[in-house]
Amino acid sequence: MKLKRRSDRGTSLNRSLPRSIAMGGLLLTVAVTGLNLWTMREAWRDTVIQSEQMAVNLSLSQARQADDTILQTELSLREVQHQLISEMATGIDGAALSQTMRELASRLPQLHGLFYYDARGKWIATSMQSIPKGINNADREYFNFHRMNARDSVHIGPVLRSRSTGDLVIPVSLRVNDLSGGFSGILLATIRVDYFRHFYSYYELGPQDVLVLMLADSTVLYARPMPDSYIGKNLSSSHLFQAMLASADKGSGQWRAALDGQARIFGFARSERYGMVVAAGYDKNNLLKNWIKGQVENVLLDLALLAGIVLLGAYILSQARRSLRYQQELTRLRDELTAANLSQENLALADGLTGLANRRQFDHYLQQSLLDATEHGQPLSLILMDIDYFKRYNDTYGHVAGDACLQAVASALRGLTLRADDKVARYGGEEFAIILPGATGPDALSIADAAVKAVSARNIPHDSSSIAAHVTLSAGCATFLPESDRPQPQVLIEKADEALYLAKHGGRNQARRSP
Ligand code: GH3
Ligand code: MG
Ligand code: MG
Repeated sequence: MKLKRRSDRGTSLNRSLPRSIAMGGLLLTVAVTGLNLWTMREAWRDTVIQSEQMAVNLSLSQARQADDTILQTELSLREVQHQLISEMATGIDGAALSQTMRELASRLPQLHGLFYYDARGKWIATSMQSIPKGINNADREYFNFHRMNARDSVHIGPVLRSRSTGDLVIPVSLRVNDLSGGFSGILLATIRVDYFRHFYSYYELGPQDVLVLMLADSTVLYARPMPDSYIGKNLSSSHLFQAMLASADKGSGQWRAALDGQARIFGFARSERYGMVVAAGYDKNNLLKNWIKGQVENVLLDLALLAGIVLLGAYILSQARRSLRYQQELTRLRDELTAANLSQENLALADGLTGLANRRQFDHYLQQSLLDATEHGQPLSLILMDIDYFKRYNDTYGHVAGDACLQAVASALRGLTLRADDKVARYGGEEFAIILPGATGPDALSIADAAVKAVSARNIPHDSSSIAAHVTLSAGCATFLPESDRPQPQVLIEKADEALYLAKHGGRNQARRSP
């Protein structure tokens, strides 16, 4: 039982250790993968935040640049306005005004032209080389604006195609009043859209990244890299104007551009002086593509790390399995050795012919039982038995038959009803013994009687016996009492032998008790 339990434990250990190692490896793999995914997610978030910041900064600087461009233009217009007012009383000199305009226009690279139209839209002065014939600008948006609006502030209008040169221009205009405050025409400066086109091309932006300059009312002035057909589009229904600019003058976020429906990371800003709006948008797909490119090295490193973990795990697993196999093998060998030792021990303690306890075991057991009886204050009885006329049996039937007879007698004795700690032994030759711990004299005598009867009942033929036609047995028993006897085996054996002697001399085939 003990051996079985030990090997059971070995088997369950054999199964659970590799499973634990495999589970550990799996958990480690999941943890490393999870950690990496989390790190990558954080890295992507950082990239998005950085892009939003860059977009806001770009928008702010471009809004500022747009303000500066318009301010320089306004200052030029104010200078012409000043000259106009001073000439109003004496009469306006168109040629002198045109000369001033040409000088001013040559100073500012953004300027396409400077113009003065009278109250009916007729050209009076311009920075152009000559005044074109037959052109009237009274139909322009800015003209109507200033005619209807008495305020002396600069008006920036939607992009136009110049009637004199065909260029795309942004009109920046001022109302001119006569001395009594009535409408007396407008001063116009046109800014080349190409100026912004050129300026925006300085920035290194991706093919789908956008930079858009808009009027405060959301009309597009220029959108990089869109074709010119996008100029003039109204974006008032866009997310930028509907949601973002409604609550802040600058900011960032992600949305689909109203221009082309592309998802972008946007930054935006409204210019402080003239209220123009700039939006810078980075193409999200391109950003993701570049980000993934940047992550390839990390991912490869992580994969190598994972492969390392898996290989290490597999190695540890195989080592663990191997050492468990050795352990099992050792356990098996030890169990076999223990079993072999036990059977060797059994052989040393058993009688080879009858299988009963041999004399060695008898001696040891009697000695031990006497000590136990003394310690527990219990009686102990011993029965010695001797086959009657056995020499004659051998002589009659031969030695081999004699051995078989000894085995039959042993079998009869083994069939007696005995207690677990009673011990039947072959005492020597044709003599047997039974040690009966706890048995009193009468108990022992009744068992001895039973033994005599059991052998007789076997009815083993014995023609040369003087007392019966079959094999018989004589028995003598003696009892050790701890309160009166010394626990010496020899003393008890001698007493039992004396009783046996009495049985022999009393006619054999009987049991006697020592007095
Ligand atoms: P008694 O009734 O007085 O006991 O006479 P006995 O002939 O039984 O006694 P004795 O001591 O004269 O003879 C015992 C015989 O038992 C002698 C011996 O040959 C025989 N014997 C002893 N051991 C063995 C054995 O292992 N096998 C066989 N076949 N015979 C044995
Ligand atoms: Mg004898
Ligand atoms: Mg005998």
